Amino acid sequence: MDKLIFKVRDLKKVYNNKIVLDVDNLNFQEGKIYAIVGPNGSGKTTLLNILNLLEKADEGQIFFYDQEITNKSNSDTLEIRRKITLVNQDPFLFHSTVYDNIAYGLKIRSIPPKVQKSRIRSALNIVGLSGFKDRKANQLSGGEAQRVVIARALVIEPEILFLDEPTTSIDQKHIDVVERVIKKIKKEIKTTVIFTTHDLSQAYRLADEVISLLDGKIIKQVPENLLRGEIIEEEDNLKWFKTAGNIKFAIVSEKVGLAYISIDPRDIILSYEQFQSSARNSFLGKITKIIEQNHLVKLEIDIGIPLVVIITRESFFKMNLNLGSKVYLTFKASAVKLY
Ligand code: ADP
Repeated sequence: MDKLIFKVRDLKKVYNNKIVLDVDNLNFQEGKIYAIVGPNGSGKTTLLNILNLLEKADEGQIFFYDQEITNKSNSDTLEIRRKITLVNQDPFLFHSTVYDNIAYGLKIRSIPPKVQKSRIRSALNIVGLSGFKDRKANQLSGGEAQRVVIARALVIEPEILFLDEPTTSIDQKHIDVVERVIKKIKKEIKTTVIFTTHDLSQAYRLADEVISLLDGKIIKQVPENLLRGEIIEEEDNLKWFKTAGNIKFAIVSEKVGLAYISIDPRDIILSYEQFQSSARNSFLGKITKIIEQNHLVKLEIDIGIPLVVIITRESFFKMNLNLGSKVYLTFKASAVKLY
């Protein structure tokens, strides 16, 4: 059986008297890619940071191989810290060359210059930036900078690479490149990769195992179009779900207050003209992503927030949809599922 790098048991983290993470049992095997998914505020970063020793748990146990590391002092976990590395959401680069940026961590570890050189060469090769070593960091695009930060993490030869939302702040072209880099890291250097993402399809594209969090707890599977927001009641007794970007959905609900909702991507109807029906939710959106899945097509549509819509290939071709097409999305209040 593959070796377990991390074992997590009965882990709890509390902020302001609220349990934000409550995980009974979770194992991570050596050499695999793990995605931690869930909507905003579901505890992804907290879990990542407890595993990478940036934060401490309030209850429970974590084992690194067979060594318990929960609430050990920083000096006790120094050896483990050397074996893991984290790439943050907003990576920071010094105003020097790509080479110097990557060499930094090796210099402070007193790695001999010859070894530095060969490790930097292979790390740049893995991230596909072999010709970039003399480039100044401020001449890089967002996606290239992200790959340099990954190379900087790899030269340390970590056993585990943690990535916090590695593709949130880069454009689609570079997202594909970074995703290829993550796959290559697993294949070529067999490093265990643990990353967070709110993009479910990215999680399933990349990971061997997907860990789904909702409100700090592991759930079997995160549904598509899962959103966090607030249910409010207006004078007419109608209930609305308000979420990021001032978006409001009509919903059927007994309760008000904070809530999670999801909308099944198959329950959303697309049309070029605004749809006249009793369905109460209608939004104009722009297609930002098209993914073919067997006889179905999955579309990501920006209505102020991204929503996923699944239609048949037949409808897709009939409607002549393209990237950038503007379409109306319509769904009934009863299609909004409450948690
Ligand atoms: P995610 O990464 O899924 O967006 P987080 O792990 O960042 O979620 O946050 C989970 C919950 O814990 C949220 O409700 C957040 O507000 C809360 N939280 C996270 N960090 C802190 C902190 N340092 N202080 C107080 N609350 C926090």
